Amino acid sequence: MSQNRRLSGAPAVAFLLAFLAGPLGAAGAEAPCPPDALGVSRTLKLDTRGGFAVGLKTYPRTLALGDHEVVLTFDDGPSGPTTKVLDALAAECVKATFFLIGRNAQALPEVVRREVAEGHTVGHHTFSHPAATMRRLSEAAAKEDIDKGFAADDRAAYGAAGSEPRMRFFRFPGFADTPALNAWLAARNIAIFGADLWASDWLPLSPSHELSVVLSRLEATKGGILLLHDSKAQTAAMLPDLLRELKQRGFRIVHIEPGDDPPPLRPAPAGWTSETEKIIAQIFAREAGQKSGQTPAPAPPEGHPGGGAKP
Ligand SMILES: [Zn+2]
Repeated sequence: MSQNRRLSGAPAVAFLLAFLAGPLGAAGAEAPCPPDALGVSRTLKLDTRGGFAVGLKTYPRTLALGDHEVVLTFDDGPSGPTTKVLDALAAECVKATFFLIGRNAQALPEVVRREVAEGHTVGHHTFSHPAATMRRLSEAAAKEDIDKGFAADDRAAYGAAGSEPRMRFFRFPGFADTPALNAWLAARNIAIFGADLWASDWLPLSPSHELSVVLSRLEATKGGILLLHDSKAQTAAMLPDLLRELKQRGFRIVHIEPGDDPPPLRPAPAGWTSETEKIIAQIFAREAGQKSGQTPAPAPPEGHPGGGAKP
């Protein structure tokens, strides 16, 4: 499919025009993009054999993107605001990657199917997204939750699940990985995605505030793997403006999907340290303080790092 076209989910008029213009494809109607749409500039077809782990917030390497290239990723869906996110992406002919919570996929399979039908990539984000994170579960319990998520996501997306997940991208809740789980995923040829930057949309920001936060961070990093949450109404509300701003500021969208190309990786700059490890340590220390009867601090929302802390 041309990268500069969109699939079903377009407004009714576009659907009708596409219907009149030619036969419908399996995924529905295709309509041409508006000439000034942001679109997708290129697609990376990533070979996940042997696994890899990318995203500078957590790992000392990331995808070797060019200047002002952005990979859009959304976590924790499908959820109420997800269809609004999909509408915004369709309006700009942009493709993204959705890291699904398995129990949400089980509850809203039609939304997952729409993500797939519209050319987005779906990856996994555990079944239950426990607030304690995978790191606080036993290894066996963590593996069970991850596997249950694989099966629920695949059933929602494709109607069936095999012993191995069809889709081989994964992101840990709260970026709280463990060496044992990382090795287990790598042996199953599953790639682990962290993030290079995020919107801090686990905090209750207004859409305009969130937009300014994301844009200032993107200007600082000159692009990268961006973490957003399609479970957040504020993010869905600001997304049309974000995509317009990305276009006007010369950012380009890179879509990622599984494929046969060796993943283009680049190492972190000298002096790199993991930001998420510091945040996780703060959260665990705060919880330990609560258990010992000290003054409780607000818990991080939904098991994500950075609750209260400004990343
Ligand atoms: Zn999450």
